[in-house]
Amino acid sequence: MTTDMVLPFYLTGDEGSQPKIRGRIARLHTQMDQIIGRHGYSDVVSGLCAETLALTSVLSSMMSFEGVFTVQAKGDGAVRTLMADMTDEGAMRCYAAFDEDDALLQGAYQGPALLPRLCGSGYMAFTVDHQVTNRRYQGIVELDGPHLGDAATSWYNSSEQLKTLIITMAEKTSSGWVSSALLLQHIATSGGKMTDDLYAQPEEMDEAMSDLWHTAMTLCGSVKSEELLEPSLGLDTIIYRLFNALGPHVQPAKMVTDSCRCSDDKVRAMLEGLSATQRADVADEAGGLAVACEFCKTERSFTLSDFAAD
Ligand SMILES: [Zn+2]
Repeated sequence: MTTDMVLPFYLTGDEGSQPKIRGRIARLHTQMDQIIGRHGYSDVVSGLCAETLALTSVLSSMMSFEGVFTVQAKGDGAVRTLMADMTDEGAMRCYAAFDEDDALLQGAYQGPALLPRLCGSGYMAFTVDHQVTNRRYQGIVELDGPHLGDAATSWYNSSEQLKTLIITMAEKTSSGWVSSALLLQHIATSGGKMTDDLYAQPEEMDEAMSDLWHTAMTLCGSVKSEELLEPSLGLDTIIYRLFNALGPHVQPAKMVTDSCRCSDDKVRAMLEGLSATQRADVADEAGGLAVACEFCKTERSFTLSDFAAD
């Protein structure tokens, strides 16, 4: 049984049944712990990966079509790249690139306060690949704030014109890594380039909506990490506890799994895309070509004789 899931919900406020705020709550544990364990990163890097995966899971679960949602943070600090992606079916994976010798990356994961020091200045990119239409949309925002969720929050608020709040957190427990993300978003009738209308205009909230939004944000801010990160506490219980007064409605959960999209065929196609000279440059003395997937660490072996000599 997977313990890793995203639970969508919405809030109607204290009257009526019209959804006014959409929400997502994610908790990743055993599936994510497998991904992180395979990489063998230090605790600090593992903690960042765990938060990145939680963030990716809530953002990916907002896609209403077949596709892949990718989150990539790039900076000039000790951690140069954090990358995670997830399909509409919940297949997730991640990797990090970093300076192995940097002392900041040793020791215990201390949560988000370390993020600006670890990643330095840089940017976070959000990419949506539509599987059916082959269209791609990318948004970029400056890497700013102590939480990974902060950059995502400001991207939605500025670029997408959607009032949004995202909290992310991660912790190493005796049963492995646990991470969580909680997202709230005003359901606007316009806005949101990622979804439909490329030319949407920002929408002002009326007073009642503004009150509801601020109450929801305050309640969201009161959530305890012990709740979000406790694997035995149901996500629906957290939603009802937090937003009891705001008409919470929970929707079916989406399971999230440790699953990479790499394949023999894709690696072969990548090698075929190189020239014979380039292949010879990366081959060992016996003509062997070993390719390890940077996401799931699967190693695949080919030889130069598998490919045309040009
Ligand atoms: Zn792979």
